[in-house]
Amino acid sequence: MLPIEITTEGLSTVSGLRLQPRRLQQVLGIAMVAVAIAMLLSFLDGNLSATIALMLALFMLMLSLWFARSGRLAWAAELMLFTLTGAMCGLTFIAEGIHDTAVLAFPGILIFASMFGTRRLFVTLLLVICTDLTVVVAGNILGWHVNEVQPVGWSLLINALSIVVATSFFVWMMADDLRRALARMKTDNERILESHARIEILAHRDSLTHLPNRVLARDRLEQTLAGARRNNSLVAVIFLDLDNFKTVNDSLGHSAGDALLCDVADRLVKTVRESDTVSRQGGDEFLIILGNIENEEAAAAAAVKILAQLAIPFQIQRLDVSATGSLGVAMFPRDGADADSLLKNADLAMYRAKDSGRNTFQFFNAEMNSSVIEDLHLATGIRLALVNDEFKVHYQPQFDLKTGRIVGAEALLRWKHAVLGFVPPAKFIPVAERSGLINEVGAWVLNEACRQAKAWQDIGINDLVVAVNVSPVQFRRDDIERELANALETWKVRPSSIELELTESLLMADSDHLSSVLDRLRAMGVQLSIDDFGTGYSNLGYLNRFDVERLKIDQSFVRRMTENKQDEGIVRAIIEMAHCLELDVVAEGVEDAVTLQRLVQLGCEMGQGYHWSPAIPADEFLTFYRAHEHH
Ligand code: C2E
Ligand code: MG
Ligand code: MG
Repeated sequence: MLPIEITTEGLSTVSGLRLQPRRLQQVLGIAMVAVAIAMLLSFLDGNLSATIALMLALFMLMLSLWFARSGRLAWAAELMLFTLTGAMCGLTFIAEGIHDTAVLAFPGILIFASMFGTRRLFVTLLLVICTDLTVVVAGNILGWHVNEVQPVGWSLLINALSIVVATSFFVWMMADDLRRALARMKTDNERILESHARIEILAHRDSLTHLPNRVLARDRLEQTLAGARRNNSLVAVIFLDLDNFKTVNDSLGHSAGDALLCDVADRLVKTVRESDTVSRQGGDEFLIILGNIENEEAAAAAAVKILAQLAIPFQIQRLDVSATGSLGVAMFPRDGADADSLLKNADLAMYRAKDSGRNTFQFFNAEMNSSVIEDLHLATGIRLALVNDEFKVHYQPQFDLKTGRIVGAEALLRWKHAVLGFVPPAKFIPVAERSGLINEVGAWVLNEACRQAKAWQDIGINDLVVAVNVSPVQFRRDDIERELANALETWKVRPSSIELELTESLLMADSDHLSSVLDRLRAMGVQLSIDDFGTGYSNLGYLNRFDVERLKIDQSFVRRMTENKQDEGIVRAIIEMAHCLELDVVAEGVEDAVTLQRLVQLGCEMGQGYHWSPAIPADEFLTFYRAHEHH
């Protein structure tokens, strides 16, 4: 059973205790019956003044019943309470004083007032009652008003019973309401706790195995590392990838695959200490974090233990399924000072374990850090990314600085690696260039950009030029022409709405071959620009020879131009030279309004940068475009 907390909010939800019209009418009914009985009895006793007083009270109660019926609950309740208090006080005074049965009604009246009345009403009634009792008793003691006590008779019993029964009846009703409200509060509370737990699971747990997910694991790792830094202790970060999971999934079906993952999860959890973390990173990958490790041998021992546990066959659909794994171990602090580098290195080590024949573990070590291996690793990743559709193109809006309109979109490649996470282009483009994979990647981007340009044209956005970055490597083979022609043809997009961003270094090579390729590209109708201008030789001499539309000033100058006079000088010089050559200028990396204003003064034609927007997915770009253009 879950603990129930009665919070202040909880109490306000005890709506069952708010006075209901039906309840009030019931209470009034009971009170009227009791008063009517008392009136009848006093009439039979020949007590005329009591009879008249009670008759008056009965009339007032009828009035408050009328209030209750017409929805004025507070009025009805107050009138009823004052009437009953008044009547009972009156009776004690004129009839038998402190010995009168009317005294029995006071607790009931006060209970009702405390539950439904204001505090002021309650205190007032209490004071009236206390005063009445004091006056009556004092009058008798001091002799200025002596009540006559009647001998005990049956009418007394009837009177007492009718008051006790009426009071108990309505106290019971109130208590019942309270119980019901509490029960409802309890279920509400349980429901809240339940949904809290569910949210916790959704946000921090893997839905299949209920192990901590990537987010929670990362958090735990950070915490473990913080602790280890304080205590100067070691932490082992272990990546585990099942060797044959795909086979199980493919041959026995997904439900068998799911069952295997759950069993593996269970075994992993049982293998490590309770304070360690086992998390599922997705697919058949698990991350194990061992805190407070004595030495590397202890980490190795844990890895061996995990491998041994996995080697014991799993019972899946009454079949013995073995699930060996490859483990990569990175140690804090030797293999990395923070979570990112440890995760990356454990992952690298895991790939090495796979390469060295699977069903084994490998420690990360310094050699693996060498760029050769990392390149190899990244190159493999890029190859897989092409197959697995991990690449995306984001678009950064480009603005005409005179009109303020969006005139272009630079296509920028984005790669979210399943394990490494987001890998910046500056990191993988060079690897793709060195390995020659840039040809495939570049072709993919060209095709994607053309598809997007067409999609925008189809919805009536016609004046947008999509700029695509092209690597010099793509010019080594003559594929670029064919790929571009293919993409334009496939998507039936106007060539003038595609711009190729070339690098300075490409043009510096200045071969005859290159100029003829560029001539043919121009002849196809696409536009050309020179990217990152200013970072290379910045020799404008060659610009004459190539038919390019515009120059893009590298963001490093633009970003610093408002603080650094020299950078501003460079920007101004580039703009002036470009204008002499009749080239438009695009400023990259415009991050604030001051820079923008300065660029406008210098006569720069176009700009892009975080001042407006970073590169964003195509759908967000469309929203941004529409909002901006309708502004
Ligand atoms: P780039 O072509 O000069 O692209 C501009 C870079 O500056 C982009 O970085 C962009 O996100 C960033 N940027 C834009 N506005 C601002 C700003 O206001 N402040 C700052 N600090 N940065 C800004 P990103 O996307 O990381 O691209 C880096 C480089 O990677 C690109 O530089 C380009 O050379 C290359 N690249 C990206 N996509 C491709 C591609 O599809 N093919 C080829 N060959 N290279 C690409
Ligand atoms: Mg660019
Ligand atoms: Mg650039």
